[in-house]
Amino acid sequence: MSTQTTPMDPERLYRCPECGGTDVNGTAWIHLNTNEDTGDEPPTDDYWCPDCEDHFGRVCDVATAPPFACNYHTTNETCPGRERERKLWVD
Ligand SMILES: [Zn+2]
Ligand SMILES: [Zn+2]
Repeated sequence: MSTQTTPMDPERLYRCPECGGTDVNGTAWIHLNTNEDTGDEPPTDDYWCPDCEDHFGRVCDVATAPPFACNYHTTNETCPGRERERKLWVD
């Protein structure tokens, strides 16, 4: 998961689509007998936010630099994650 990013390709953060928090959890395939993470591509339709105490079908993948594009929401007004990233730059 450590793909090299160029200056033109800002870092991205997974954020909760409801509160914009970064404490979102995803699922992974675990070997039932060894408890080891199999490393296979995990199911991508069940995420959990401990702050919202809610499950989500997907999470925001938000850029950490302008224009803070989110792969889910299109504007800062509808995406709490984009709004949080924007504030980090303004303050
Ligand atoms: Zn949340
Ligand atoms: Zn979003």
